[in-house]
Amino acid sequence: MLPEVIGRIRSGSISAEERIRMFLERIELDNPHINSVLHVNSNAIEEAKRIDERIKTRQAGKLAGLGIIVKPNISVKGLPISCGSKVLENYIGSFDADVISAIRREDGIILGMANCDEFASGSSGENSAFGPTQNPTSPGRIPGGSSSGSAASVAAGFCDIALGSDTGGSIRNPASHCGVFGFKPTYGLVSRHGLVDLSMSLDVIGPICKDAYGIALMMDVISGSSENDAKTIPHERIDFLRGIDDGIKGKTVGLCSIAKEMCSEKRIYDVVESTAENMKKNLGVKLIDIDIPHIDLSVQAYYPLVYVEFFSGTRKFDGKKYGKPIEEFCGEEVLRRILGGKEISRAEYEGKYYRLALKAKMAIKIAVEKAFEKVDFIVLPVTPKLPHRIGDKITDPRVIYAYDAFTIPANFAGICAISVPAGEIDGCPVGMQILAKSFNDATLLRAARVIERLGIKNA
Ligand code: GLN
Repeated sequence: MLPEVIGRIRSGSISAEERIRMFLERIELDNPHINSVLHVNSNAIEEAKRIDERIKTRQAGKLAGLGIIVKPNISVKGLPISCGSKVLENYIGSFDADVISAIRREDGIILGMANCDEFASGSSGENSAFGPTQNPTSPGRIPGGSSSGSAASVAAGFCDIALGSDTGGSIRNPASHCGVFGFKPTYGLVSRHGLVDLSMSLDVIGPICKDAYGIALMMDVISGSSENDAKTIPHERIDFLRGIDDGIKGKTVGLCSIAKEMCSEKRIYDVVESTAENMKKNLGVKLIDIDIPHIDLSVQAYYPLVYVEFFSGTRKFDGKKYGKPIEEFCGEEVLRRILGGKEISRAEYEGKYYRLALKAKMAIKIAVEKAFEKVDFIVLPVTPKLPHRIGDKITDPRVIYAYDAFTIPANFAGICAISVPAGEIDGCPVGMQILAKSFNDATLLRAARVIERLGIKNA
């Protein structure tokens, strides 16, 4: 567990250099098969040596000696920011994103760049131009996406913490399939400066880790407003580590039974339900049934909005300033979104589809906010089905889009949500999603921490 690792690094019983060498060796050995890392930072060992000096003189920061892997749509100076695409294959980051500067300030070591679905578009990890990522926990299956390489790298033991981005579920979905924790912070709590947009009104950067403490630690480092991102919301600094073990006794948890109908694999709902019962029995929470009207419209509302925002965001990839012309070099899913977004934005439709989708988004946001008048947390499945096998022929994109049915509402509402490991079905890890109100991120992580301590009872 991360607190023990940190203790050993601080006390000098292992050095930063040793830890980083261990990760690099594992990557060298296992990555050719897992394919979750696209590029290794060749300076990582030198950086670790420098941090060891700081540890000796007791000047080291909160992440001293920890290895971090980054989704390749987040800018890291000097490393390839490919976005999992041939379009940006040779594009090297010219600056550090705000989150990367924050990690460096606290002496975290960037180990390398992860694989991901091209331009964060996907739910399976199969849309990367650099080949699919394997699920280390469930061999032969997809790891989920689009932060496929970030979650798989954590599960494979290639790093301590990884960064992903979440527009409609891309942190929580792969975390669930890989059996690790994945956190989507409140929109505006973490700077998006240096993140390549998928859909800028929904995108957020967040951490993936094997334990809840690591999520809280990374949030403590990367959260806060920034003058580089006008959408960050000035808010009193949240201390993520204080009170992390305080528990959630007396809180009310809402279970949404309509989710059962939406699950094509009913056993996933059963895992969520029995974890919620477990919380009631062992954590002193009150459990009530809630309804969230319109959540069944999430997928239909999300894709038109993302298509349009993505289309407009990709106009800068015309081959002049960044990489190659996108329409000529991108994969099938990215092209579908560009052409779809272009079509939906045409003048003769007068924003017909877009406006309708915005209306549905607003209805879902209001429904979620209303549910929070009665509860502190909402629990939902992360995905309605188990991860498919890599290479399964899925020709209808709607089958893939359906993975996002339960994760999109948190992006629409701008609130925080986490996937916590909750069980296992047919050898596949299954996560439970917990949602909390905007800026209740630290309380949500407290819930994740106590659920983690209960242990997985549904395996
Ligand atoms: N699967 C969703 C999509 O393809 C979510 C992507 C994400 O959150 N980055 O758009």
